[in-house]
Amino acid sequence: MIRFFSYSRFTTFLLLCSSLLYLSRLPLLPARIIPDAVTVIPETQNATWHNFVRLIDAGKGSQLSGVADLKRYFHRFGYLEGTNFSSFGSSGSNLNFSDLFDGQLESAVLSYQRNLGLTVTGKLDSATVSAIMSPRCGVADSASPPSPSKLHATKRFAYFYGRPRWQRGSDGDGDGETMTLTYAFSPDHRVGYLSAKDVRRVFRRAFDRWSAAIPVSFRESEEYGSADIKIGWYRGDHGDGEAFDGVLGVLAHAFSPENGRLHLDAAETWAAADDFDGVTSRVAVDLESVATHEIGHVLGLAHSSVKEAVMYPSLSPRMKKVELKVDDVEGIQALYGSNPNFKFNSLLASENSSNSHGVGMTGVRRSSAAWNHFALLVCLSGMLLSCI
Ligand SMILES: [Zn+2]
Ligand SMILES: [Zn+2]
Repeated sequence: MIRFFSYSRFTTFLLLCSSLLYLSRLPLLPARIIPDAVTVIPETQNATWHNFVRLIDAGKGSQLSGVADLKRYFHRFGYLEGTNFSSFGSSGSNLNFSDLFDGQLESAVLSYQRNLGLTVTGKLDSATVSAIMSPRCGVADSASPPSPSKLHATKRFAYFYGRPRWQRGSDGDGDGETMTLTYAFSPDHRVGYLSAKDVRRVFRRAFDRWSAAIPVSFRESEEYGSADIKIGWYRGDHGDGEAFDGVLGVLAHAFSPENGRLHLDAAETWAAADDFDGVTSRVAVDLESVATHEIGHVLGLAHSSVKEAVMYPSLSPRMKKVELKVDDVEGIQALYGSNPNFKFNSLLASENSSNSHGVGMTGVRRSSAAWNHFALLVCLSGMLLSCI
């Protein structure tokens, strides 16, 4: 017993030290507070997903409190069919899942790990639980394979079922003819602390990145009702069957072509600055990164398993990921064709250069991993303390 207690306390001490080490690596921030309807945000995890840390190391045959919640999570994001033949993707809150880690859950974990580019083990290892707890897009990951063609067999972008794309203003044959789509911001569903000027600048840049790659241009319209793409911030259940869940967790969602709705969770602390230097919140979410990702959905891309791609489903707080990667560009150009001015070789060269020199997207990966490890360490330390 004595040895057990000593070991536990030592482990706790080590974990706390590690947590403090990570904390010390977070940038020191000047005292500027984002005015926000949600002014007190003590958590750094979504309340429900935070509990998944208790499931680390669970595998097939485990019976643990919380497994049913994990099944609801996998049901929501397209990995697990509900009881009574319910469809994928609904919130699943009233579905009767058991706490047994069964074969179906193992299959769900396997395909989740494949889709998120994780090591495929079928078990809830710490990397998998960390990914599950990360803030993410609300669009389900289930998607049709990129293409039956062998040409695309190794690509990891994906489309919605049926490969829908916008047809308006185009003959739809992907021959390079330019189409124009309009977008507008909801006059009623905004967040007060973001200026209209900042929001417009951020979305303009996000749209420009996609239109640089494909022969589609985007024009802001004052006519919200008739715009092709309708952008707004919403809270909780807002009538489209995809309720938002408060701080972190699901950050935003958008609908496949030619629906055009792009919704952001009003409960997040959105940051519209060029960097995070003046942003104090540890749960701040970069608007431009999320806007770029959701526009990808509006245009017809589903989630990618390439971690560096804009269309990867999760995004850590305080992370900026706005540049389209080769995977994003190949995916969108297969739907719409290429913008005649787009230089694919330049993108390829810059991506290769980033890889070999350890900057660019490698930096994104490192920052993401650091955040995830930090979150896990804090959670584990708390759990160990409560056990001693
Ligand atoms: Zn998404
Ligand atoms: Zn919505």
